[in-house]
Parts: sequence; C-alpha cells; structure tokens
Amino acid sequence: MSIKLYNTLTRKKEVFTPIDEQNVRLYVCGPTVYDFAHIGNARPVIVFDTLYRLLRHTYGEAHVTYVRNITDVDDKINNRATQDYPNEPLNEAIRKVTEKTEAQFQNDMDALGNLRPTKQPRATEYIDEMRQMIDGLVENGHAYVSEGHVLFHTPSMKDYGELSRRTLDELRAGARVEVAGYKKDESDFVLWKPSDDGQPGWPSPAGIQGLGRPGWHIECSAMSWKLLGENFDIHGGGIDLVFPHHENEIAQSKCFHGKDEMANIWMHNGFLQINGEKMSKSTGNFFTVNQVLETGAMGERPWHGAVARLAMLMTHYRHPIDFSIAKLEEAEGTLKSWVEAANVELDNGELDNISPSQEIIDALFDDLNLAPAFAYLHGLKNKAAKGDEETKIQLHCDLEFLGLWPKDVQAFLSAGNLELDASRVAEIEGLVAQRLAHLNAKEWGEADAIRNQLADEGIQLKDGKDDDGNRTTNYELKS
Ligand code: AMP
Ligand code: ZN
Repeated sequence: MSIKLYNTLTRKKEVFTPIDEQNVRLYVCGPTVYDFAHIGNARPVIVFDTLYRLLRHTYGEAHVTYVRNITDVDDKINNRATQDYPNEPLNEAIRKVTEKTEAQFQNDMDALGNLRPTKQPRATEYIDEMRQMIDGLVENGHAYVSEGHVLFHTPSMKDYGELSRRTLDELRAGARVEVAGYKKDESDFVLWKPSDDGQPGWPSPAGIQGLGRPGWHIECSAMSWKLLGENFDIHGGGIDLVFPHHENEIAQSKCFHGKDEMANIWMHNGFLQINGEKMSKSTGNFFTVNQVLETGAMGERPWHGAVARLAMLMTHYRHPIDFSIAKLEEAEGTLKSWVEAANVELDNGELDNISPSQEIIDALFDDLNLAPAFAYLHGLKNKAAKGDEETKIQLHCDLEFLGLWPKDVQAFLSAGNLELDASRVAEIEGLVAQRLAHLNAKEWGEADAIRNQLADEGIQLKDGKDDDGNRTTNYELKS
C-alpha cells in the first residue's frame, strides 16, 4: 500500500513517490512573526505535523526533512515594531517583536502536540540567496528593474497560473488596486523593493544603488532551494496561499532553476472559521492559540492543547472547519474517554517497542483521512475499557503517535474540576482520601459506599496507580 495525497497542481489524489526515499523533503510556509498565532494559523501546523509523523513512520525518522520557515522580514513587522517600541531604533524594535512573537509561536505549537520541524530557517538569514535568484531572473529575462524595484514579468513564463488555474487575462481583470506605474504588466509581482531611511534594508541586487528588501514570495523560493534543493517532494500551506504566494514561488523557482517542477505535490489545508463566522481581526472574531489554551477567552475556560488538536483533526484537512466551543467540548469528551481507557502505568521505554496500529496508518495513507482512524480508536477504547492491558497500551501508543496523548495526564483527566469551588474540592478530596484508606485496608463495602455517594452527587472516580505502584484516584465532574 502506498501513501496517496491530493495534489492541488493536478487536482487529483496521487500516489506519493518520493524523489529520494533516503531523504523525503517537505516544505511548509511558516508564520510571519509580527503577532501571536491565531488558531487558524495552527491548522496548517497541525495538519502538516500529522503528515510529517506519517512520513517518519513510513520512511524512517532520519530520512525525512521538514522545513518550516519563519518570515522575519515583512512590512507588517516594521509597522508593529514602530507602533510597539516608538522610542527604540528600528532594528532593535524589530528584533524585540520577532523574538517575542517567535518564542510564543514555538510554545503554542508545542502545546498543541506538534513536533519541531527538522529546520526552521529565518528569511533574514537567506538574503544572499534571494539576491542570487533575483540576479539570475533578471539575467535570463524573467525579471526587470524599474524605479528601484525588481519585478517578475509574468508573461515571460508560458505556464504562469498553472497552480491556481488562472489565465493572465483573468489576473489582469482582477487587479483591483491601482496598478503601480513601474509595472510592465498588471500581473507582474515584486521580487525586491527599495527601502527608505526608516526601513530595514540590505544591499540591492541587479545593479540597483541603495538598500532594499525582498518581497515575500522570493523568501520561500530561496529557503526551500537552499535547504531542500531545486526540486523537492511536498510543499504545503493554507488554501489562501495558492494564489499569489505559491503561484509566485513556482514562477520564481522554475524560471531560475529551469526545472519542470518546484515541488512535486502541493497540499493545502482548508480554512478555519469561528463559531460559524469568518475569522477576522477587524471584527475581533478571532482567538489566538494562547487565548484558547491559556486565558479561557473561548468558552470561559482554557482548553487542553491535545483537545484543541483533536477538535482540529476531527475535520478532514481539506474541508473548511467551524471551530466552536461545541467542537472543543466534543473533542474533550472523546479524548478523555480514550485517555482514561488507556491510562495504565508503563515500564520505561515500553511504548518504544510498539508500532501504531495498522488501521491508523492505512487511514492516513488515504490523503490523511482520519475519520476511519478515529472510528477504530473508539473500538479500541471500548475493548481497553474492559480491562485488556495490551489494548490499553496500544491505544496509548496510537494517541502518542497522533500527538494526542496529553503530557500531563493526571491534570488533564481532572480538568473538569475547574468548575468546582475550593471548599467543594476539599470536601471531595477528603472523601477520596477516606475511600483510599478503606481500599488499602481491603474494606471494600465502605469504599464502595463512598464511591456511590459521590456518583450520586455527579462525581465520578477513576482508579489508577502511581510510579511506585500505589493506588491513586482521580475524580471528574459529570455533566
Ligand atoms: P500567515 O501568517 O497569514 O502567512 O499564515 C500562516 C499560515 O496559516 C498559512 O499557511 C495560512 O494559509 C494559514 N492560515 C491563515 N489563516 C488561516 C485560517 N483561518 N484557517 C486555516 N489556515 C489559515
Ligand atoms: Zn511560502
């Protein structure tokens, strides 16, 4: 059986054949670090993390290179820097904005159960390569200099528009904004632009005097080239990047390298909406990852990262998703039931000797279609809940593989307690302690009486063992 992936380039699901099985190469467009990531930005990260996990499982950890860039040069960053640090020199202000935002991004993505990519290049470290590509494109007639800018001339490329399936005439008609006078064609796009005194700048390419800065698209062409080569396996991002960003990456890379393809497969995740409405910063209808996981801004309580991850993965990656409180609640209930059923003490390294279930792998092989995988996990949970030790361990392994196993299991399972006030918590904990004493003294009747009393009050107990083999009890408020 082989991996099948939907390729935006051909609009078909295709069998995935790596260019080199010893080095399978994936590039995903990363964040522009001017503001905290919102949960829409987390979707491509989670989707392509799932693909990365599948590729590592299939070809071996050492044989997959996953590059996700950090865009740290962009006018949005400059604007944010002058706004937030008006009294600092611009370079210093930019450094502060990008460092703070990037650190938060890494924390947020870790909390959502994502592995770190193999490489996370910053655009500012690849300016030389961008200049080299721009010089080459001017030399081979695909780009030109005009009023201190370098522009890519789209009519110079015969199949420009192949990814988004737009013709040049459609693009020209769609150029809503006034077309800059320095463009030969409405659909030409910027490779390099001049910087004023107050803007970050680097020596310009193509014989232009003075400092300038790259356009966004050339950044990804340069980074993917240097880290993955002229032609690599898979390029991913959100559906909004198909045009113009990915179309222009393809134009630059193909015309510079003279290859038939930049990436063989182009994958795009669908968009995320909030509570049935388009997510939009201007209307305030959006949540940052940090708000969802930490501050309780969505649904008045924080959600565990693994719950948010499952809520995201419950919808196929190519479909739009309505990210709602109801979805988070559903994911929480499901994940708790899985984790509870799988929660047994493991010996050190016990999971290392177990592979994820073939049913999960088969489901992912079909264009990351997780629905059958989740149905299978429900079945596994039912079996595990009956006490079968091997099934419990397998379920744990599968959840770990999908990035869904909470690192802080006990805290996760007790999370419902957030809704109890402190005196009630003390009361319940007192009863739980009494019951444990009865259990340890083998006074089963007394122990059961306390369990039943709490159950009548909506508190469910869950027994387990700690690292030293002692009995433990978690409790949960049942709605
Ligand atoms: P940006 O920082 O806007 O370039 O976005 C980073 C990544 O997040 C890109 O892959 C975008 O396609 C993706 N993205 C942005 N907004 C959403 C959304 N609402 N739903 C899904 N993906 C999104
Ligand atoms: Zn990109």
